[in-house]
Amino acid sequence: MVSTLPVSLEDIRAAARRIAGRVIATPMVQSFSLGELAGVPVHLKLEHHQTTGSFKLRGATNAVLSLSPAERSRGVVAASTGNHGRALAYAAKAEGAVATICMSRLVPENKVSEIRRLGADVRIVGESQDEAQQEVERLVREEGLVMVPPFDHPDVVAGQGTLGLEIIAALPEAAIVLVPLSGGGLAAGVAAAVKGISPMTKMIGLTMEKGAAMKASLDAGRPVQVEEVASLADSLGGGIGLDNRVTFSMCRDLLDDVILLTEAEIAVGMRHAYAAERQVVEGAGAVGIVALLAGKVVGNGPIVAILSGQNVDMEQHRRVINGKAALCGEERP
Ligand SMILES: *Cc1c(COP(=O)(O)O)cnc(C)c1O
Repeated sequence: MVSTLPVSLEDIRAAARRIAGRVIATPMVQSFSLGELAGVPVHLKLEHHQTTGSFKLRGATNAVLSLSPAERSRGVVAASTGNHGRALAYAAKAEGAVATICMSRLVPENKVSEIRRLGADVRIVGESQDEAQQEVERLVREEGLVMVPPFDHPDVVAGQGTLGLEIIAALPEAAIVLVPLSGGGLAAGVAAAVKGISPMTKMIGLTMEKGAAMKASLDAGRPVQVEEVASLADSLGGGIGLDNRVTFSMCRDLLDDVILLTEAEIAVGMRHAYAAERQVVEGAGAVGIVALLAGKVVGNGPIVAILSGQNVDMEQHRRVINGKAALCGEERP
């Protein structure tokens, strides 16, 4: 079964050897406050301390290192204003390659300058993410750049899977792993690694209630489009691609369950991460804690929650911590 997946345990082990020394093997710590609440031991994988602030560096680094010398010299390209853009900019620069990151004119200046600071060649084109993506396709077609997508690519999924190898090495008896879920690159990779070594460990995907494209697709039995809704967990937004090749089938075959979370619950989770665990996490990074606090995870322990990222606007974070209504989308400064 597992051997028929687009990304195998062996692919993930090869990725781990490839990216060793280029990414941080992040710590895993026990949370006594969450353990008390859940009634079973709870461990937090502190992946938000990864270089560039999220796990996306694993997949981006593995993808860049897997290129042929000729491809590498042509450079890589993606349309991303978020964690994938940061990660690809950093990973390419580290290997002496050029990353071109395309963004629309509507992207705020602080996001543009951050990705530029990480060494990327930022191209501002059009008025929407779609137009930025069209520019990516033009650069691939006309200038030979190599597209590195944020999730639906075997090398990216294998890179994210290295996180699963670290979890199961640190805690072989893990009964449940809670994984944030959007396009499914993280969930597919971690599940392939964890279940490849420990088939009885349950994998549960976590996402927001509104605009959850992978959940809707799993329910429909094929990739479907959903309307995008602004969320505190902004890194979990976006579709899975109607022509999804890798992550949909892997999530379908490997995830035991998907749990949906409300905006109010996500805010409570970020607050708990900060106040009780002393961790600054973005909304997407808090969802494991959120599901435990909301009592939505049932089963035996030990439970592992992946804190996937820390890239939240600190003004927004302060508002959430202070219990003020979080500003989303249009209202955001
Ligand atoms: C990208 C991202 C996710 C979701 O990962 P997918 O591979 O798209 O499912 C979760 N958390 C953070 C912080 C991210 O940047």
